[in-house]
Amino acid sequence: MVRLDRRAKIEKFLEVIQAVKDTAPTSTDLAELDLAGLEEAFAARGWERFRARQVFAWIYRRGVTDVDAMTDLPRDLRTALNTEFTIGTPQVASREQSADGTEKFLLTLADGRHIESVFIPDTPSMTFCISTQVGCAMACAFCLTGKMGLVRNLTAGEIAGQVRVLARSLGFLDRPFNIVLMGMGEPLHNYDAVMQAMRILCDEHGFHLSPRRVTLSTVGILPALEKLGREELMPNLAISLHAPTDAQRGALVPINKKYGVAEVIAACKRFPVRKRDRITFEYVMLAGVNDSVDDARKLARLLDGVKAKVNLIPLNAAAGIPFERPSDDVVDRFARTLAERGVTVSVRKSRGRDIRAACGQLIVEGQRPSPAQRLATLAFR
Ligand code: SAH
Repeated sequence: MVRLDRRAKIEKFLEVIQAVKDTAPTSTDLAELDLAGLEEAFAARGWERFRARQVFAWIYRRGVTDVDAMTDLPRDLRTALNTEFTIGTPQVASREQSADGTEKFLLTLADGRHIESVFIPDTPSMTFCISTQVGCAMACAFCLTGKMGLVRNLTAGEIAGQVRVLARSLGFLDRPFNIVLMGMGEPLHNYDAVMQAMRILCDEHGFHLSPRRVTLSTVGILPALEKLGREELMPNLAISLHAPTDAQRGALVPINKKYGVAEVIAACKRFPVRKRDRITFEYVMLAGVNDSVDDARKLARLLDGVKAKVNLIPLNAAAGIPFERPSDDVVDRFARTLAERGVTVSVRKSRGRDIRAACGQLIVEGQRPSPAQRLATLAFR
C-alpha cells in the first residue's frame, strides 16, 4: 500500500515535470507551426502546399485568426480548417499605458496562466519586449519575475503569439519593429520553443522579421549559448553579467555557480558575432554592491578582447528587492571609468516604471508554482 502510494506520487511528480518541460506543439494548433510544419500538416491531408502559405500569410501578415475571414480559401477548406485546427492566440486581459508612452499588456494563455509583454516606443525604434516563460527559474536577487519561480515554459506559438497580438493591437502589422526577449523568463532555458518562434517570426511569408531586429537576453546558460552560435537565424546577443567577479555575481545570479564569469566570457569570445556587431553586456547597478570605480576597472579588464558594449541598468527598485539604486553621479562615474578604458557604454533609460513595466518588474501575482514545479526549478540549478 505504502509502496503504491509512493509510486503514484512519483508518477504524479514526473507528470508535472513533463508539463513544465513540455513545449511540444499540439498537433492541432496552427500557431505552433512554422511554415514548413504547416505545409507538412496540409500535405498530410492531401491539401495543396500553397494553401499553407496563404493561411500563414493571413495569420502573420494580416493578423487574421478567424478562418472564415480568410476569403481566398475555398469554403470546404475553411470548414476543414475549422474542424481540424485551432489558432491559439493569447488574449489581452488588460493594457496599461505609462506616462512615457510605454504600454504593458497582460495576456491570458489557453490554460488561464498570465504573462506580460511590453511595447516600448521610440528607443529610437519601436520595440516589443516579449516573455519566454511564465515566471523564471533563475531567481536573480534583484528581479521580481525571479521571485515567482518557474511556472512553465511558453510554447513557440505563445512566444510568437505575443508579437502577433501586440503588432495587431498597436497597428504595427506593416511597420518595422524590434523584439527584445527580455520579458518574463530565461530564453535559453526554453531553447527549442524560442528557436521555433524565431522561425515563425522571420519567415518571409509572415512577419519577415530580420533576426538582426531580435535581441536575446540571457544569464548565459553555456550549452545553449554554444548551440545558439550555430543557428542560421541568429538573434543579437545580450548577456546579463551584472558583476565582474564570481564572488559578486554568484550572490546575484545563482546560475553563476554552474557557469562562472570566466566561462561565460570565454564563450562570448568564441561566439560568432557579425561584422560591426557587438555583444551587449547588461549590468544592473546596485548601490554599494557592484557600482564602485574598482568594479568598473575590473569590468573593463574582463571585457578586453571581447566585441562588447556595456548597457548599465540602474536598478528598478521594488518592495521585496533588498537593493538600492545608485545615484546618477555614481552611475556616471562608472560609465566614465569604462569609457576611459575604451569600452563602449550606454545607460538604459528606465521606461514604464510607473506601471511596473520596467526591467525586472514583470510579475503576475497569484501564479505560484506547485511544490513539484518548485522542485523541478531547483533541480535545474
Ligand atoms: N532572463 C533573461 C531575460 C530577462 S531580461 C536575462 O536575465 O537576461 C531583463 C533584464 O533586466 C536582465 O538583464 C535583468 O538582469 C534585468 N533586470 C532584472 N531585474 C531588474 C531590476 N529590478 N532593475 C533593473 N534591471 C533588472
